[in-house]
Amino acid sequence: MLSTSADEAVVDGGDNVAPSSSSSTRSSRTPRDPPTSVEEEEDGCDAPTTTRRRDSNFSRLTDPTTKFSQRRRQRDHHFNNQGQHKHWPKHKIPSVGVAELRDAALFKDPPPKEDCPICFLPMPARLISCASLPNATRSSVPIYDYAKANEELATMSTEIYYTCCGKHVCRGCIHSFFKSGNDEKCPFCNAERKRNATDEDKVAEIWKRVAANDAASIFLLASHYYHGVKGLHQDQAKAIELWNRAAELGNTKAHNNMADFYYKGGNMKKAKFHFEAAAMAGNEVARYNLGLMESQSGNIERAINHYKIAASAGYCRAMHRLIICFKQRDVGRKSIGSTLKAYNKSCVEMRSEARDAFIRGYIRNN
Ligand SMILES: [Zn+2]
Ligand SMILES: [Zn+2]
Repeated sequence: MLSTSADEAVVDGGDNVAPSSSSSTRSSRTPRDPPTSVEEEEDGCDAPTTTRRRDSNFSRLTDPTTKFSQRRRQRDHHFNNQGQHKHWPKHKIPSVGVAELRDAALFKDPPPKEDCPICFLPMPARLISCASLPNATRSSVPIYDYAKANEELATMSTEIYYTCCGKHVCRGCIHSFFKSGNDEKCPFCNAERKRNATDEDKVAEIWKRVAANDAASIFLLASHYYHGVKGLHQDQAKAIELWNRAAELGNTKAHNNMADFYYKGGNMKKAKFHFEAAAMAGNEVARYNLGLMESQSGNIERAINHYKIAASAGYCRAMHRLIICFKQRDVGRKSIGSTLKAYNKSCVEMRSEARDAFIRGYIRNN
């Protein structure tokens, strides 16, 4: 079984925090194995062994003495008589395959990351994923080691949001733009930016876009309320209300923060719901957090599946987890090989000179 440690906690550029070791002792509900249709029909039902569907092709063509056809007829019986069977009320008839359908949606390939509108490179949740470092191998993940040594950089988001045009721009492009002496303009729309803008000015700009129902602005305002920054009083209830609104508009960071909030409060059901919503929409941090949750519940196989998806998206913590699983023989050689290939490919796709220059400059100055 995997363990988590405090230094594994992930903090979003905004406010996302992954499950920490201090919470690992909380009780987590272990998800039920998806039921099969056969198990459902054998559960406490005294259905007759002959079907009423005399016109069923299946009934006429199969050997009625086989166990399989008997079970099939029992299932036909239940679905033909829903609500009529006194020993199996309608509301208790299990949905066939709901869990399987849910998992199929949860574990399918997530949508691609959003591209920076200037350099058109994918924008990972963490800037550290773009660091130009050697490829990961079965024994090490250089970006993970680098992140461990530079914690503040490790939790920094790749993008900055501009309220003038409502665009997210990568820090690499902002770095290059500012270097050319344009530090008073938006790198995307060239709108003038007040150098000495007060917190009040900044919050007023955010509110304008919030009024237009812009999910990114709503998320940003929520985060400011949550932390009580930019001249706003700390207001958790307001933050949750706004995160909820942003999440409903499809903001994955808002989902991840909501999940973290519920996780810390011990509401595992809601935490999982929001982590899953964010993960399915392509948030690799939420995907990694789901892996941690499953691991803490002892569901190693599900945890590994989440780590694989997050690692394939270039998330170094997930790749590091998988290396540990490989060393513990929970992951095979072939499987780790294919994930490493996908991880390294993603990392290369996200790198640029400008992003690397920003990272190196940040390290130098901090
Ligand atoms: Zn860019
Ligand atoms: Zn702009």
